[in-house]
Amino acid sequence: MLKKIKKNHPLADLTTFKIGGSAEYFIEISAKDELKEAFDWVKEKNIQISILGGGSNLLISDQGVKGLVVLIKNEKLSVHGERMTVGAGVSLSKVLSLAINYSLSGLEWSNGIPRATIGGSIRGNAEAFSCSMSDIIETVEVFDIKKNKFEILSCNMCSFGYRKSIFSENKNLIIWETILRMPRKDKKQIEEIVEKNLEFRLDKYPRLPSAGSVFKNLNPEKIKKKNPLFFDREIKDKIGRQGLVGAGLIIDLLGLKGKTIGGAKVSLEHANHIVNTGKATADEVVQLISLIKTQARNNFKIDLREEIQYLGF
Ligand SMILES: Cc1cc2nc3c(=O)[nH]c(=O)nc-3n(C[C@H](O)[C@H](O)[C@H](O)COP(=O)(O)OP(=O)(O)OC[C@H]3O[C@@H](n4cnc5c(N)ncnc54)[C@H](O)[C@@H]3O)c2cc1C
Repeated sequence: MLKKIKKNHPLADLTTFKIGGSAEYFIEISAKDELKEAFDWVKEKNIQISILGGGSNLLISDQGVKGLVVLIKNEKLSVHGERMTVGAGVSLSKVLSLAINYSLSGLEWSNGIPRATIGGSIRGNAEAFSCSMSDIIETVEVFDIKKNKFEILSCNMCSFGYRKSIFSENKNLIIWETILRMPRKDKKQIEEIVEKNLEFRLDKYPRLPSAGSVFKNLNPEKIKKKNPLFFDREIKDKIGRQGLVGAGLIIDLLGLKGKTIGGAKVSLEHANHIVNTGKATADEVVQLISLIKTQARNNFKIDLREEIQYLGF
């Protein structure tokens, strides 16, 4: 175990943002007993532990991350009828490819999301085009740090909601494996939807490194209550498919598309993405996030909440 732990391991290239310092300690874990050992080790050393998936929803501090960073590499992947057993470290794109081969439907929405793993996507209940991870989850196997054992949770026990789950609320639960239930459909139809979704992303999303949407979309009722005039004038006819208001719309209305601090820039293609134009630092991204939040509050009485996760802050 100790042999596998690396010291001062660079993390930027393990994220889609390509930003951030090094992990004080770093380990890739592919077996259950290794995960248990890692937790014993951090307890003994009295240091913190952080979990890394595909790094596609993360901002890592320029100062790096203290303690042990665990990259979950459980890459188990098998199909049995309309069910799939999938390790938390398998990428969404790999699961989607296998699903297409077996004519299984339910992950078409994920085509074109870079690097994301099943573990990170279950934690945040990733979704697009009105479909989400929780639609296809039967069970999730977790390691419960407090109980020091593995347990299986049914989908109902996972408290999935918009961009949240029991795992985003309870940091003691590490996602290890899942069983997905995906109905069989016509393969051609699946392929067509997958292609259409990719075209949409290529058209709308920036090509520069980013961490996807920075802020969560908003409940229109809350905007209406706090600022009815603004709601009537700018929002009421622009409510999205899920009944939410896009955070990108608010940033656009603030006139912040293209706003730059150092190497961090509000994307011109999609205002809810901040891109790394080359040499952005985490500090510059944080300054830009802070500016957007302040202006949204001062101008529109709107509290934007981050969807991206911070590591090492
Ligand atoms: C270009 C682009 C487009 C995107 N489009 C979408 C989209 O359409 N829909 C969408 O929902 N998201 C989208 N995202 C965001 C991102 O891809 C998803 O949130 C993804 O599910 C994150 O998975 P990950 O493995 O990269 O997690 P990471 O970014 O590595 O981690 C995210 C959080 O999950 C935790 N975590 C990771 N693995 C585990 C585990 N095994 N157990 C417990 N906690 C864990 C981490 O500690 C962290 O807090 C996009 C991102 C990019 C860069």
